[in-house]
This record gives sequence, structure tokens and C-alpha cells, in this order.
Amino acid sequence: MNKPDLKKVIILSSPSGGGKNTLINALLKINTQVEHSISTTTRQPRYDEVQGNPYYFIRVEEFETMIHERRFLEWAPVLNNYYGTTHSEIDRILKNGHIAILDIDIQGALQIKRLHPEVTTVFIEPPSLEILGERLRRRGTETDEQITERLTLANEEMKHKAAYDYTIVNDTVQKALVELQNIIHKL
Ligand code: 5GP
Repeated sequence: MNKPDLKKVIILSSPSGGGKNTLINALLKINTQVEHSISTTTRQPRYDEVQGNPYYFIRVEEFETMIHERRFLEWAPVLNNYYGTTHSEIDRILKNGHIAILDIDIQGALQIKRLHPEVTTVFIEPPSLEILGERLRRRGTETDEQITERLTLANEEMKHKAAYDYTIVNDTVQKALVELQNIIHKL
């Protein structure tokens, strides 16, 4: 298989609850050139999630079969579940002439960057871990134990931000959105 050109791919990572989803949704409303890459996961859907939005939800055995069939551009275990980006999802977006925006964890972002240095990687940094904790509690979709687990992971993830091409501190959506649009215009 030829190595695809991923110049029109932008990868966003942030600790869970970092406000990345709000930012991506705001971006998709104002920039019709950008399409969100839908990842595949083995995690259970939350109450407001359905098949295909925001993930393709599949069983562990199916995911492992897809790994063997080399269907993933990258995949990683995150908090006891598998998450991955399929080649077909990225091909679909690029064939539409669009820019693919990927919302994936640090392991996945660095896997892609190693193989495809032409991708652009952006770390979305929450203003502080305290604010991150507050946001997670307000969201109310995780137990206290899960929130502690996510905050510990966030603390670890912050250490890797230097590996990204850009960092955006997400204190207000408006400001972060302008910074993100400036990056996208350079692609
Ligand atoms: P959540 O379960 O809160 O939706 O996502 C948990 C973490 O999984 C987030 O850090 C998110 O960026 C990451 N994630 C989502 N999709 C993918 C993917 O396709 N690949 C990788 N490596 N991480 C992903």
C-alpha cells in the first residue's frame, strides 16, 4: 500500500474534559472544509451517544480482528478500552477534499506523527488541573473514582505537550477557536 499524504490532517489531543469537544463542535460550525474523523472504540456509549456519533462502538473481539487486518492508522488502549482511527475514515475525508480533524490521545497522536511527520499536532491544554476536575464533575458522566483516574492520566499527559507542533490553552472557546483557525489556514 502506498503511504498516504496526511498534510491535510490535524490531530488534537487534550486531557479528558479539556474542552476539546466544545472546541471541535464550534470549529465544525464555522469551517465547512473540516470534517471530524470518527474513531472506533470498545467503550460503552454514554447516555447521549449513539452508534456513529461520536464513535463507532464495537466489541473487543471485533476490534482485535480489525487490528490483525491492519485496518487502523493508529490504535491505543485508553483507560481500559481500545480506541482507533481507521484508514478508511481518513481516506473518506481526504477524498472529499476536506481537512480531517482527529481527536485522539497522545499515544495515537505520536504514533501517527512518527510515521507521517507531515501531519499537524495540537495539544489543547486546560487552564489548570483544578478547572479540569471541576469540568469533569459538572459533566457528571464519570464516577468519582473515574474522575480521579482521568485527572491522574491528565497530569501524565501534560508532560508530553512539548512533543506537539502547537499548544493552545483553552481558557475561553472563542480565543482557542481563533488560534485553531489560524493553524488550519496554514495547512
Ligand atoms: P472519551 O472516552 O472521553 O470519549 O475519550 C477518552 C480518550 O480517548 C480521549 O483522550 C480521546 O482523545 C481518546 N481517543 C478517542 N478516539 C481515539 C482514537 O481513535 N485513537 C486514540 N489513540 N485515542 C482516541
